[in-house]
Amino acid sequence: MRISHSLSLAALLAACLPCALAADKPAFNHGDLAAANSLREHALTDDTSFRLIESLTTEVGPRPAGSAGDKAAVAWAVREMRRQGFANVRTLDVIVPHWVRGEAEFAVISPWPQLMPTLALGGSIGTPPEGVEAEAVMVKDLAALAALPPGTVKDKIVYFSNRMERTRDGSGYGRAVVVRANGPADAAALGATGVVIRSVSTSNNRLPHTGATRYKADVPRIPAFAISNPDADALERQFASGKPVRLRLKSSSRELPTEHSADVIGEIPGTDRANEIVILAAHLDSWDPGVGAIDDGAGVGIMMGAAKLISGLDVKPRRTIRVVLFANEEFGTSGSQLYAGSEQAEPARHVLGLEADFGAGPVWRLTSRVNPAQLPVVEQIFRALAPLKLERGNNEAAGGADLDGLGKLGMAILSPDLDGTNYFDVHHTANDTLLQVDPAALRQSTAAYAMSAWLAAQYPGDWQRVETPKAPKR
Ligand SMILES: [Zn+2]
Repeated sequence: MRISHSLSLAALLAACLPCALAADKPAFNHGDLAAANSLREHALTDDTSFRLIESLTTEVGPRPAGSAGDKAAVAWAVREMRRQGFANVRTLDVIVPHWVRGEAEFAVISPWPQLMPTLALGGSIGTPPEGVEAEAVMVKDLAALAALPPGTVKDKIVYFSNRMERTRDGSGYGRAVVVRANGPADAAALGATGVVIRSVSTSNNRLPHTGATRYKADVPRIPAFAISNPDADALERQFASGKPVRLRLKSSSRELPTEHSADVIGEIPGTDRANEIVILAAHLDSWDPGVGAIDDGAGVGIMMGAAKLISGLDVKPRRTIRVVLFANEEFGTSGSQLYAGSEQAEPARHVLGLEADFGAGPVWRLTSRVNPAQLPVVEQIFRALAPLKLERGNNEAAGGADLDGLGKLGMAILSPDLDGTNYFDVHHTANDTLLQVDPAALRQSTAAYAMSAWLAAQYPGDWQRVETPKAPKR
């Protein structure tokens, strides 16, 4: 802002006084806060979110990118958005990879032969029909692999032993998942013939955990697998014997031609600020071993349930509330990357985003990523959410993977953080089923998202762009 030289100091001080007081000024009027309370009361007795997850997991089930289930999920979402009364329901065509898991087998050949349950990592190449057999080298993580003397893993299978730490905010996953993402490419670069990882999971059951791995263009692709925590312990006891450990890996995983999928969009139209969008993001795809109830059926349920509750208020939102169920978050974030760059999706209209991709909840904390000048507004949203008993978090919210692109464009983020303490007992495993969704936690989560989205849509000021580039998500 330029200030005229003719302004006296007194006038300048007087002009700035309202800015100084703005922090304490109520951001929301009585009606907006009363509506937020009404959203909470309704959400805590409403089972729309749960019914949606039940329907998606029963009528569609697994929906990995490119599969028949993926296409069925898009049709399901269009149908359900219309049934919930959302406006402007439409799809945005997205091309997605189509990787097929096939069958996998993991055998310890020596010193003591046994088979262990396994899953190929997402995107892994298959093996010849007879499998890949070699002596195995155990390392903890990527740094330990890099520190080995040259030639140590040439023509060997690399086993990564690092165990993920249980945390509420998912930071344990962030630290451990780099092995899944980069371990196969790093090991291949050193001449390894295969990779096995201890599942990036906190569970003690025998169900292995899958998830995407990333090959590198200039490095050979080698097959990559995960085994469960108890089997990883058992394998490590074989290593501890000091005898050579020989493994055989088999998989019929393969990549098929790309397929069409879609982002599915529905709205609660705004009124006087309808041109500004508050986006509620979740993803429609899932991994294939389970039915994607917590990842991310829960997010789909929370966001559609929250929008449905807002549409049922007597007052209409000022800004447009747009629910977007993204295609293929799990294997490359194809849907959200396309969306952030698509004029059709009108990314520049998005002023604030919320994402639910961390299970069914409950929500335990409110974090944000807003222009620091607007922290007092977040503080007032936090106070309105007080009956839900949240903690106040920092202003470094990452949102989730699907808000990365819009975040980089400077969109503000409000993040009711879902409690992830037990999330990684189930995430990306065959155990990701409806039974893992706690209806009471889900109602509280839906309440937190509905109230946050509503107040974000009602804020009388402009949501400012956030200058600091969003930290890249690994
Ligand atoms: Zn997810």
